[in-house]
Parts: sequence; C-alpha cells; structure tokens
Amino acid sequence: MPLPDFREFARGQSCVACGANDGTIVLAHYMGPRRHSYGGGIGHKGHDAVGAHLCARCHTDMDTNLRDKAKRWEASEVFLHYCALTWIRVCDALAQRRAA
Ligand SMILES: [Zn+2]
Repeated sequence: MPLPDFREFARGQSCVACGANDGTIVLAHYMGPRRHSYGGGIGHKGHDAVGAHLCARCHTDMDTNLRDKAKRWEASEVFLHYCALTWIRVCDALAQRRAA
C-alpha cells in the first residue's frame, strides 16, 4: 500500500500541538538544529516524513523557538514529539485503509 502524500494528508486534520481544526493545518517541516540530518538546509525543507500537523499559530511559534539559540534544543525535542504524534496519525489512517 503506497504511503499518502504527507502534505495533502495534513488538510482537514487537527493541530497535534493545540488541537485546533481551523483550516490552517499544514505539514510543518522540522527546521531545528538537527535539520541537516533530515535533508533540510538553507533555502530548502527537509524530508516530508519529519513534519508535523500544525496550525498557523503553532507553526509560527515553533519556527520562532527553533531559531532562538536559547530555546532551540527544547523546541527541537517538542517538535520531534509532534512529528511522532503525526506519524501515529498517519499509521492509524493507513491501518484503517487496509482494514476497509
Ligand atoms: Zn496549533
């Protein structure tokens, strides 16, 4: 079974950080201090698999904290937690499709 298009799959989902379902949820790419390990860098995003379903407000907050030298490592851990929650959501959706 093919994997979903991760960016498309984010539409209509709720924010894994705050629970909002306000139509602003996108696949937010990890842009923290480990981004080079995930294919990210200056001017380009990392792999879609290292992304989280975030609303516009949480996306902005995460990007701001990941750029802050004092907060970036804590923000990195939080963001990677959000990625894990997003992956659980994707895996559950795939399992449901398989069962249908
Ligand atoms: Zn949110």
